[in-house]
Amino acid sequence: MRILVVEDEIQLADALSEILRRNMYTVDTSYNGTDGLDNAMSGVYDCIILDVMLPGINGFEVLRKLRKEKISTPVLLLTAKSEVEDKINGLDIGADDYLTKPFVTGELLARIRALTRRKGEIIDENRLDYNGLELNKSTCSVIWNGNDVKLSLKEYQIMELLISNPHQILPKERIIEKIWGYESDVEYNNIEVYISFLRKKLSVISAPVQIKTARGIGYSLE
Ligand code: CA
Repeated sequence: MRILVVEDEIQLADALSEILRRNMYTVDTSYNGTDGLDNAMSGVYDCIILDVMLPGINGFEVLRKLRKEKISTPVLLLTAKSEVEDKINGLDIGADDYLTKPFVTGELLARIRALTRRKGEIIDENRLDYNGLELNKSTCSVIWNGNDVKLSLKEYQIMELLISNPHQILPKERIIEKIWGYESDVEYNNIEVYISFLRKKLSVISAPVQIKTARGIGYSLE
């Protein structure tokens, strides 16, 4: 999953990004409202962590503009302790949740998980299930019928995307945007390589799913 952090306190922004990366999220960081809005408008994120007090355009303005443009990405607002009004305002203009600074990491991660729940059934915070096929975040593995196989980080992220959108064709372009970012120079044949690794690993554990190729478009999990 891909998360955007918009926070002007550079140390906090970088610490947050690091925590999220360690928890298997792909992270982009913006240090001001203008950049944050530009990035957020792409609509590729699964969640946006948005500080309220930002230089340039503040968090409320960013949020207001996003909602006006029908970008419905879940937004978690970061507010300062004393600003009760901010929380009410934020929720009123379309934030999905807020967190008061300072916060503990566990709570941040729990709120992100709540905001990004997907169609794949979530067994618990570390396990995603699709008809008995389990994707396990803590071991970075995929499990079928008691057999498991380790995945690399990118394989994990691609598998997560597929399991979260079963029976839907995911265009290669979208996979790149979600996992590498839209300014990356990853090419389609890199994805093909990851997909072929994933297929081999799924067959090693005899998983009853297939990653089908939609020729010229992308892939779907069947
Ligand atoms: Ca700030």
